[in-house]
Amino acid sequence: MHLISRICRILPVGIALAMLSTSVPVLALGGEQKVEFDQFIKNIREEKRLDQIGYLIFAKITPSRTSEDRILAAAGSYFYASDEGYLAHVNYVRLDRMKKSGIETQIIDKKRLDDEQESWYIVWTENSAQEQKVKALFEPLYQNEHTMIIRIRPEDRERLIAARVRFSQIDESLLPTRVPAMPKPCEFRTVDPAIASLLEFVKADEMKADVQTLQDLKSRAVGQPGNVTAVKWLVEQYGKIPNLTVTTPTFQSGANNLQNVLAEQKGTVDPKTIIVVCGHFDSTVSSGNMSYAPGADDNGTGAIGVLTIARALAGKKLPYTVLYAEMNAEEIGLYGSKAVAKTLAGTAGVTIKAVFNMDMLADKDDNEVAVIGNTRSNWLIDAFKDAALAYTGLKSNTLYDSKIWYSDHSSFWNIGASAICTIEGYPDMTPYYHTTNDLVVNIAPSMMQKIVRGNLATLLIMNPLPAKIAAKER
Ligand SMILES: [Zn+2]
Repeated sequence: MHLISRICRILPVGIALAMLSTSVPVLALGGEQKVEFDQFIKNIREEKRLDQIGYLIFAKITPSRTSEDRILAAAGSYFYASDEGYLAHVNYVRLDRMKKSGIETQIIDKKRLDDEQESWYIVWTENSAQEQKVKALFEPLYQNEHTMIIRIRPEDRERLIAARVRFSQIDESLLPTRVPAMPKPCEFRTVDPAIASLLEFVKADEMKADVQTLQDLKSRAVGQPGNVTAVKWLVEQYGKIPNLTVTTPTFQSGANNLQNVLAEQKGTVDPKTIIVVCGHFDSTVSSGNMSYAPGADDNGTGAIGVLTIARALAGKKLPYTVLYAEMNAEEIGLYGSKAVAKTLAGTAGVTIKAVFNMDMLADKDDNEVAVIGNTRSNWLIDAFKDAALAYTGLKSNTLYDSKIWYSDHSSFWNIGASAICTIEGYPDMTPYYHTTNDLVVNIAPSMMQKIVRGNLATLLIMNPLPAKIAAKER
């Protein structure tokens, strides 16, 4: 409701119009009218009004942990960090807060917060051919290396899909402004026999069989029956593991109502501190014929990696909560992980200690995994690198690079969590990427075993088994 109509409701219409047509006198309200007017102002302050303007801004501030803290304190979240600064979506109140805190901001674009017609998209282009393709269709509002920001109407979405580039819609909801506490970095010291014995549970041949099961669904692409069957199958698998709370929260992606599969293993000491282990289970093919998208490597391997870690830790008493998150709709714009991150960011008292995202684990066994993280995740990259090497002999190609956003880890970066992505190689990935040949016969299960063991070992260093349980199992 607009201010004028609101005033007209409070005052007789004639008086209100007279007030507006002449020079406006001081408006003295009392009693019920004042209460209503104060509430109206309060709603604006608390950002409840939908008809405000949303600003897409570039905050020119050298990325660092403290810079990120300042962005999160003012904006609540951001969606891209380049070497020069952060891109965020804010309303007027937050924009003002940002300026007052001394951050140099540049408005890239603006539109009504309740405008559901036009949307901002972040686009990832692999090469200059793709870049030219997108630029022929849309005028970028912003560009940095592989990333572009564009504004599109609903009818443009099909054109963007046809361009076969990776993209994600920018979430325009305003998350609570808070700066998450930085987790204490965990240090690897010596190989713990209890952890080493638990890693034995992660077996290449068993994981391969499970990836085959996912591949046999023919297509787990959003909109295909196999996507729904995959949800059912995953729920069944997690249901067999003791002491997990399994849920399938629904989220919206365009016209689709989709489900993630979440399984929570409650921490025994500090259950509000959460470690997320995730991987996406949906698949895609770049040909566009989604009825056959086997997605063995991308990302049957990661999805089964998450499940295998849950099975390995079955019944174990761990100090912190572990959330096993099988993400949906990664391939169409990271929608599943965004929904999970948003829920966690909006839950009071919750602290995310670390996020382990696994995406494509087994193109070949060259004994080197790529580990991607942003400024807030350096410690986690280092922890993984040391643990993986000590426990499995696996080497890490460490990429301290916030610009590699195109997988589920970035949804957690955006809310200030430490998150890493382990991937078979970057930018060298499977030659069968997003093709109908992304099949189990073309993967190296031994590589998947090492990467999953590396993730599990790192998780157990920061979320240790109680000493007496560990001793009994030795
Ligand atoms: Zn993937």
